[in-house]
Amino acid sequence: MSIAFAVDADGWVAQAHRLPSPNFEARPQGSVPTLIVVHNISLPPNQFGGTAIAELFLNTLDCDAHPYYEAHLRGVRVSAHFVIHRDGELEQFVSCNERAWHAGPSNFFGRERCNDFSIGIELEGSDTTPFEAAQYRTLGSLVSALTARYPIEALAGHSDIAPGRKTDPGPHFEWARLQRDTLLADRYFPYLKFSRTL
Ligand SMILES: [Zn+2]
Repeated sequence: MSIAFAVDADGWVAQAHRLPSPNFEARPQGSVPTLIVVHNISLPPNQFGGTAIAELFLNTLDCDAHPYYEAHLRGVRVSAHFVIHRDGELEQFVSCNERAWHAGPSNFFGRERCNDFSIGIELEGSDTTPFEAAQYRTLGSLVSALTARYPIEALAGHSDIAPGRKTDPGPHFEWARLQRDTLLADRYFPYLKFSRTL
């Protein structure tokens, strides 16, 4: 069984390791989270462990430490609400009530600026590696807590809302497993093709 998470009124999950990022702003007036966006990230790419993801989101990453950082991340200001590490540990960088900077140019069925109305969850991982069972356990608990707290209508991958530009969470991410773990109805997964008949 998974652990029950809860989101407090200020938009923070008590069970998460809290690392407040300066990279956020208020959501537009009247905008509430209705979309959950699933990503993968690893820094350096395809290397797991370490603290580089947190350092990126906290603007403390030493870009001299790796050529990839120098080439792609110097001066970049990004964040996600959550990171789930390989061992299932949950970190939170931005309150869910605020607008984090994870999606970039994006379009959800004609609605642009997905950061305005979404919650971003980064799984430590890559497009070429299966995710860990511990990560699915934490993700399932987190998604359940978020759907209980906010009027979430859908979940999407970053690649769904930024096709051609983004490929994460990648082919190894098991959407059906997330659906099974959360018991969410098919309508929460508008990008999934359901083969079974109703
Ligand atoms: Zn992404």
